[in-house]
Amino acid sequence: MDNLQSKSNLPTLKIGEVEIFWLDGGRIRLDGGPMFGPVPKILWSKKVEVGEDNCIAIDNSAMLLITPSAKIIIDSGIGNKMTAKQQEHFHVQRPWRIPENLSRLGLSTDDIDLVIPTHADFDHAGGLTRHNHAGKPVPTFAQARHIFQKKEWLVVKNPDRRSASSYWPENFAGLDEGRNLKIIDGDFQITPEVKIFLTGGHTIGHQGLEINSKGESAAHLGDLLPSKNHLHPLWVIAYDDYPMEVIAVKERLLPVYARKQSWLLFYHDTEICAGKAQLQENKNDITLGSTISKSEY
Ligand SMILES: [Zn+2]
Repeated sequence: MDNLQSKSNLPTLKIGEVEIFWLDGGRIRLDGGPMFGPVPKILWSKKVEVGEDNCIAIDNSAMLLITPSAKIIIDSGIGNKMTAKQQEHFHVQRPWRIPENLSRLGLSTDDIDLVIPTHADFDHAGGLTRHNHAGKPVPTFAQARHIFQKKEWLVVKNPDRRSASSYWPENFAGLDEGRNLKIIDGDFQITPEVKIFLTGGHTIGHQGLEINSKGESAAHLGDLLPSKNHLHPLWVIAYDDYPMEVIAVKERLLPVYARKQSWLLFYHDTEICAGKAQLQENKNDITLGSTISKSEY
């Protein structure tokens, strides 16, 4: 694996016995304002590059977890089913390349055992399905079990007006409960090292996960912590359905992770994949110590 790993050129991190690789789920550009919700532009524009169109680059870095017992995909990128109009609307800058990235590790989409979408927005669930030869959407990870929170799946099946704009039915085609879909309600220990938990906040059934192995740990809070620029509990995004819940979860969990020196894993950051949580001296705020930079995927 070591040789493959260095040849793969994919960013990677080891947490005890669990290897993490970041995969290229595509890059889009979106208006920077909503990505920082109530934060004034004068503050957020110091942290990211803003174009004349007010847009900022947003990566969608899915993760592959290789544990001693399973190969797990966390979120799935934007997929490759967008129409030309959608690609223009979301300013797709780099296409979805997860199958190609997996092949650099000697793997195929059929080798994946479990898929854990943090939630059902198109930028996380777009890669769950892809078009077959007949142009019909089918599950990308054909052998995998997909794990959703019950509260999230209920919205997928019956989206309200706000969710309908980002929960696209074609992203869930072919997912059937009891066959390749498992619905959980709250905490779920998926392997001895990986635990899922319900966060809510960004969406009603948003889930995060923690990895614990050999005394090392990492946490992924999905869109409750989309990038290193969202560490401050009050820096929430306008797409959060329940922002007060996001603030409460960050205030509760980030100091815990800092005390444990856990790695925080990022999905939307364009510069780093992960950073080690640290408490700022004499404060309750969190900063990052060591970080894992993004190489060219
Ligand atoms: Zn997102």
